[in-house]
Amino acid sequence: GQCVSSCPVGALTERDDVGIVLDAVENEDIITVVQVAPAVRTAWGESFGLSKDFATAQRLVAGLRRIGFDYIFDTTFAADMTIMEEGSEFLERLPEIKESGLPMFTSCCPGWVKFIKSQFPDMAGRLSSAKSPQQMFGAVTKSYYAEKLGVDPEKIFCVSIMPCIAKKDECTWDGGKDVDAVLTTREVERMFKAFFIKPEELGEDEFDDPLGSGTGAGVIFGATGGVMEAALRSAYFLVTGKNPEADAFQSVRGLDGWKEAKFNLAGTDIRVAVASGLGNARRLMNAIRNKEVHYDFVEIMSCPGGCINGGGQPYKEDASDVEARKNVLYGLDRHNSIRFSHENPSVQACYKEYFEKPLSHRAHELLHVEE
Ligand code: SF4
Repeated sequence: GQCVSSCPVGALTERDDVGIVLDAVENEDIITVVQVAPAVRTAWGESFGLSKDFATAQRLVAGLRRIGFDYIFDTTFAADMTIMEEGSEFLERLPEIKESGLPMFTSCCPGWVKFIKSQFPDMAGRLSSAKSPQQMFGAVTKSYYAEKLGVDPEKIFCVSIMPCIAKKDECTWDGGKDVDAVLTTREVERMFKAFFIKPEELGEDEFDDPLGSGTGAGVIFGATGGVMEAALRSAYFLVTGKNPEADAFQSVRGLDGWKEAKFNLAGTDIRVAVASGLGNARRLMNAIRNKEVHYDFVEIMSCPGGCINGGGQPYKEDASDVEARKNVLYGLDRHNSIRFSHENPSVQACYKEYFEKPLSHRAHELLHVEE
């Protein structure tokens, strides 16, 4: 890296990983695979003064292509995998959840995972064991995709572009096995400038196949409530064998810090809550502990509004910008021809060819954290 801080652990400055990523890109013996998180596409153009309509994910792909990454994929694919695993896990745990009166919590936000482990350690066992989309993406790349390419996984250098500083920490939790480097949206801006890339002159380019395809359900992961909504869409299908209306669970949308809703899933009431911001998380956790509230499934994101407002995004002063970023994601969901994670053809192929089914032995080994 290029840490020039006088603080030995780099805690006082944001770690800049552009250098190690470019080293990997230039090394011909290394295959660089980059994934782009959903929230990044809502904001990367802001620092270049580009409109939301112009600064699409596809234009970002075109810029990354110029830098020389070998494969450019979409974290949304892995968000769909996360839904398959986490949705199945929720249904498997539901009898115990009903019996104990305590919920399962989402586990895709490293800020939240650290928070519950340090502040409410007695509840940490209630986290979903599913890895986050970032980590699942790395694990799938270095197993299924390496096999497809016929290369040694050791030769793959997996880069994530994230709206988030905590993701730099998360990728070290497994010893850096799945993901090798994390760049924030702001570091992408610096990288583009270093390469004299003028985004206003870029055309649009598509993500590569097969890990570049994601559904409308996967893309809303970037906003508070998105993981819950995507999970409910697929849980409904898993229980009933039929798809719900794609917008059936839209009451969990919106930037409120603590939302709740109740849905009926084949005769069973499912009580859900969605919170963002750690102050709201603490209030919600205390309310669960004091038995003031009862939920079955809870989504928590540590940044207010979710990843669209992450610490690695371009700096903004105005809360209306978060609203605008949120609207980009729900627009992408609305216009996607596939709005259910379980209908993602690349995800289906990945299970058919490699993981067999959600929660299989291999899925547990690669897509879940060890407890
Ligand atoms: Fe990172 Fe914030 Fe998203 Fe959590 S909510 S994953 S800390 S950007």
